Amino acid sequence: MFESLSQRLQNTFDRLGGGRVVTEQDVKDAMRDVRMALLEADVALPIVKDFVGRVRDRAIGAEVHKTLRPHEQVVKIIHEEMRDTLGEAGRLNFSGSTKPHVIMMVGLQGSGKTTSAAKLAMYLRKEGRQPFLVAADTYRPAAVDQLVTLAKQVNIPYYEEGVSAKPTDIAKRGLEAAKNADASVVIIDTAGRLQIDDQLMTELEEIKRRTNPAEILLVADAMTGQEAVNIATGFNERVGITGLVLTKVDGDARGGAALSMRAVTGVPIKFMGTGEKISLETFEQFHPERIADRILGMGDMMTLIEKAESLYEEEEAMRLQQKMMENKFTLQDFLDQLRKIRRMGPIGKVLGMLPGMSKLQMQGMLDNEEVEARISKVEAILNSMTIQEREKPKILNASRKKRIARGSGVEVRDVNDVIKQYRQMQKMMDQLRKGRFPKIPGLEGI
Ligand code: GDP
Repeated sequence: MFESLSQRLQNTFDRLGGGRVVTEQDVKDAMRDVRMALLEADVALPIVKDFVGRVRDRAIGAEVHKTLRPHEQVVKIIHEEMRDTLGEAGRLNFSGSTKPHVIMMVGLQGSGKTTSAAKLAMYLRKEGRQPFLVAADTYRPAAVDQLVTLAKQVNIPYYEEGVSAKPTDIAKRGLEAAKNADASVVIIDTAGRLQIDDQLMTELEEIKRRTNPAEILLVADAMTGQEAVNIATGFNERVGITGLVLTKVDGDARGGAALSMRAVTGVPIKFMGTGEKISLETFEQFHPERIADRILGMGDMMTLIEKAESLYEEEEAMRLQQKMMENKFTLQDFLDQLRKIRRMGPIGKVLGMLPGMSKLQMQGMLDNEEVEARISKVEAILNSMTIQEREKPKILNASRKKRIARGSGVEVRDVNDVIKQYRQMQKMMDQLRKGRFPKIPGLEGI
């Protein structure tokens, strides 16, 4: 999925790529292409108009990033808008709901509801919860049998009454059964139809009223295309959905459904199904960033942009150096730096990117785990200090140190070590500032 959209946009970007200055006309041309690409990808027209409008406004009025060429700036804006349109990362929300929490799976027949119900149960079990499945899809022949087979296959407790009882009654009795089984989350597989109809909606409203779900997830086929907007709006208006599960993302759909559904409902995409197999490998939590990258297919472009941003980091480093030279480097700056390093990834990988370091790593001279543990300890100690203490380390007296040690689970000795290292660094900076070569332990007399 997403291939054709990404290719189309890539061509646009390539054409944009030449000049150093992007004119208003260039932006206009690019936006026409983006618009075509999105429409071809089956994104609904009003969403396309809105999206293109926002990108155009930002691109024309953009304050050009110092280290980015103008066309890269346009790409960055498209990426950011795409990410925002796709919404935040998917997460289930059980707050305000009592146990067992109920999740209602709704959607049209064939959307992948039953399959996703089983995958979701596995996902919840991995999270340490006790899931329970209820087979209330009495409409599609074999849906109940299918759910029972899947539940047995992955060893999840379930409730069923065949197909002759009323779905609303099955849901209610299923919830009771789940309570008796000490389940913490109940997933109800409701009936679908080939199209949205009144009878279906009434039935879903009734199940909702009787089971008080924490989440109502609309399961939708990524290949739905233009119809996506009607389906999402239809379910949302009558039943009120809290999240989307996009299935068959592994197929060759054109990707528009994700954007459209999210935009018209304002409801987050929570999960994606990426295969027929019932497994955790084919059920992913939704990450807008990753999907935006995939839609735009901008691996190379993003590397470029990241490079530009690391130039910005260089400026930041200069500013810090200045601070150090003036002896204004505080423990707060120290912590900020540690956090920045952390954000770059596992310490072993970060070190490996530094010149010379990967060689040391290969020679076994750097123990990544040990370095990681030491940094974690220092970070914990700094985190246990108040901002005031980090800004003015002088106020750190014995009782404060004791409190910090307790807060970070270390000895006072360890807190002293961090402060000592900080003081040594300060002293070195001070000597450098005065034009003297600092005494570095072990290097005296050189
Ligand atoms: P329901 O009628 O909504 O309960 O739909 P099903 O769960 O029976 O799914 C319909 C079809 O889609 C089945 O053949 C599933 O194997 C298939 N399916 C469901 N999710 C996915 C997915 O993420 N990827 C692929 N390729 N197929 C899926």
